Amino acid sequence: MGFMKGKKILITGIANRYSIAFGIAKAMHAQNATLALTYHLDKVKERVFSLAKELGISIVFPCDVSSDESIKNLFVNISKKWRKFDGFVHAIAFSPKKQMSGDYVNNITRSDFSRVHDISSYSFVGMAKECRSMLKKNSSLLTLSYIGSKQAIPNYNIMGVAKASLESNVRYMANSMGIDSIRVNAISSAPIKTVSSCGIKNFRKMSKFSKIITPYSHPVTIHDIGNTAAFLCSNLSKGITGQTIYVDGGFNITAMNRLNP
Ligand code: NAD
Repeated sequence: MGFMKGKKILITGIANRYSIAFGIAKAMHAQNATLALTYHLDKVKERVFSLAKELGISIVFPCDVSSDESIKNLFVNISKKWRKFDGFVHAIAFSPKKQMSGDYVNNITRSDFSRVHDISSYSFVGMAKECRSMLKKNSSLLTLSYIGSKQAIPNYNIMGVAKASLESNVRYMANSMGIDSIRVNAISSAPIKTVSSCGIKNFRKMSKFSKIITPYSHPVTIHDIGNTAAFLCSNLSKGITGQTIYVDGGFNITAMNRLNP
């Protein structure tokens, strides 16, 4: 049967099978959701279509969230397939590589600051605004964040500031859309090796350090994120909105998990 049976969910942000968004698509598929996907660039089009095929997904459209026109076209295309739907997953972030290393203050520029915020935070509410009238009652919107929104993490720099904006976006969107019975949440994920995370300087060192101080020893995978995402986009999580839910093995609650004798 599956606890997402009858739910139609749009998933953005699949670049390849290691993407968190693909873990989410698999988990939602396992719970019998009907899914649509987007891809960003033509160079990943074929790959995303083939991943869609693996999950029996027939609706796949392009979308570049840095363009209002592209977001509009996406929902015009979706409306030809689905009159109404039950939510979307925003698994999108972008920063120029040079901002993901070194000294935050020395490296920052006005144009990089706006571009990173535009793609990594604004686009979530931009998409919601465009499709609001197509969302059914009890819809759920979901985005992906990281603890760097709250605590300074080496090399995460500008993306940490954009994730803080994104999490605030979640609260304001939840406050705005609750009246239409639409919920909005974020998952704050543990570090997972993907195309995006590999752009952060010393990402391997960062994950190694996280593992050392994470209370729960099981490493978080895209399947774990996927299962929480499926729960948050299902009616099982009615009552949860405006939240950032940590799926990080408890990393966020500790500064020091154990001391060697
Ligand atoms: P990923 O590289 O697989 O996915 C990022 C996606 O963003 C890609 O599919 C890319 O095409 C898309 N994208 C970038 N610019 C876009 C644009 N202008 N229009 C449309 N799509 C665009 O990496 P991921 O790690 O799966 O990232 C998914 C989300 O999870 C991101 O928001 C990321 O910040 C977040 N996150 C990742 C980690 C991690 O460790 N991997 C941890 C916490 C949060």
